[in-house]
Amino acid sequence: MISLTTDTRRVLESRVLQAGYGSSVVVRDLDLHVVAGEVVALLGPNGAGKTTTILTLAGAIPSLGGQVLIDGRVTVDPLHRRVRHGLALVTERRAVLMRLSVAQNFSVAGISETKALASFPELAEHMRRKVGDLSGGQQQMVALARALGSEPSILLADELSLGLSPLLVDRLLGAVRQAADNGVAALLVEQHVRKVLAIADRVLVMRRGRVVLSGTAEELRGQTDAIQDSYLS
Ligand code: ATP
Repeated sequence: MISLTTDTRRVLESRVLQAGYGSSVVVRDLDLHVVAGEVVALLGPNGAGKTTTILTLAGAIPSLGGQVLIDGRVTVDPLHRRVRHGLALVTERRAVLMRLSVAQNFSVAGISETKALASFPELAEHMRRKVGDLSGGQQQMVALARALGSEPSILLADELSLGLSPLLVDRLLGAVRQAADNGVAALLVEQHVRKVLAIADRVLVMRRGRVVLSGTAEELRGQTDAIQDSYLS
């Protein structure tokens, strides 16, 4: 049997991707790829183009040039079709339905409680609570549990842990690492450089819409201060 974690397929790839809004190109000539079982971290200062990249790869906004490939095939599908083909997107805005219960959030997404709770069993005791009454961290757990419960092949996450406590950041990033270990290809935008380097396999640093540094997380782990000073400030 072939192990998913040794699969080197490029599940997600961009070639010379141009991304932006209307006539305004904010991401230029972006070549990246994520293979099954891998966590790639996308870092960069404010306005570097990280969110624009994630949204374009997800099909939430149309690309302005170049190509996005999923499973080796060029796609111009919109988000909902990419989702149907195994892509999950988690944004910083916690796209959860606040007036519904945790259980209802899973059921409207067509995800069984067993699958949803596989990554976050601690949500079991909150299933009947309204999501709007949960803490920000619990809401983000619901968002990530729902995304992972759909058993995606690709996970795109934009600032998953924005504004959350260090322990919750570890919990969320740990769940992403676990999903990758089970074969998911994950691309994460994160502000917590040290924490994301601890769970990522590779890192791309963007600045003004271009990748200015890339390497394995192992190579970059000892250089977090230099990366912060030179690229992220
Ligand atoms: P941050 O870390 O602050 O979220 P980012 O790296 O994710 O930044 P983006 O949000 O992708 O950066 O923004 C890149 C550029 O695109 C910025 O100059 C921003 O002003 C511009 N931009 C973002 N969203 C829009 C939009 N809806 N319409 C026009 N320009 C936009």
